[in-house]
Amino acid sequence: MASYKEILEKGKKLTRKHNKETSATELLLLHFSKLEPTDLYLKFDSEMPEKEAEDFIEGLMLYLDKNIPVQQIIGSVYFYGHKFKVTNQALIPRFETEELVANVLMLYDEYFENQKVSLVDVGTGSGCLAISLAKEEANLSVSATDISEDALSLAKENARVLGVDISFYQGDMIQPIMDKKFDILVSNPPYIPTSEEVDKLILDNEPHIALFGGEDGLFFYRQIIKDSKHILNDKAIIAFEHAYDKLEELQAIAKETYPEAKIYTVKDMQGLDRMTFIIIGF
Ligand code: GLN
Repeated sequence: MASYKEILEKGKKLTRKHNKETSATELLLLHFSKLEPTDLYLKFDSEMPEKEAEDFIEGLMLYLDKNIPVQQIIGSVYFYGHKFKVTNQALIPRFETEELVANVLMLYDEYFENQKVSLVDVGTGSGCLAISLAKEEANLSVSATDISEDALSLAKENARVLGVDISFYQGDMIQPIMDKKFDILVSNPPYIPTSEEVDKLILDNEPHIALFGGEDGLFFYRQIIKDSKHILNDKAIIAFEHAYDKLEELQAIAKETYPEAKIYTVKDMQGLDRMTFIIIGF
């Protein structure tokens, strides 16, 4: 028999031994104890039910021994204030991608305020971008594509649980929506160069199809920018997340197709060049 505090200390000690993140240990304890953070600390010295303690240790071993990401063990992650289901069939939503949501909402206000606007999320994965945008701005009519049927079914489930109406299309990037028109295109395509070394936690658990973007990591940006000509209205916005060291190359690719556009890059909260916007026809 042991208290929450003792179990947490034991878990953290084990975690340190494995040279892994103790923040993950805390998240797992919260998950398996089904307590909110404040309640956990109030109950810190009381006894943790044995079954919960066992489940916690079992979950912790998945993280420590099997190297499974904590979001996949818990089965969910918070993104832009909403709880998204996580599986190993799509990229786990990342904090930096929340910043793309915030930037797209600001651009909507600046360029389309109060207008009904159609938006597409190309390569939606878990659906986190499309769904968060639909939840925040009722004037957006949102579509999303993905090549992976498993990712799409996860995105559909997330959309249903979070109560938003999104049109989903299965296919390679823009290919399934070639006959449609949009005002805003957002995308966080796979962007890791094929030869780049990737953390094992990511490499072993997240779909490679959602990670790798060809030799220079820019394959999908070229494809999306080229094909976007067919689906964008005269006045339109493209919003990309990308690798922090690609802004010059990406801006040059954008300029080739959209020489008149306003093209600029924004840093994420870590100070890295993470998002590029292409403002067309304004
Ligand atoms: N940011 C992710 C990573 O480095 C990659 C996401 C992507 O390729 N779109 O793990």
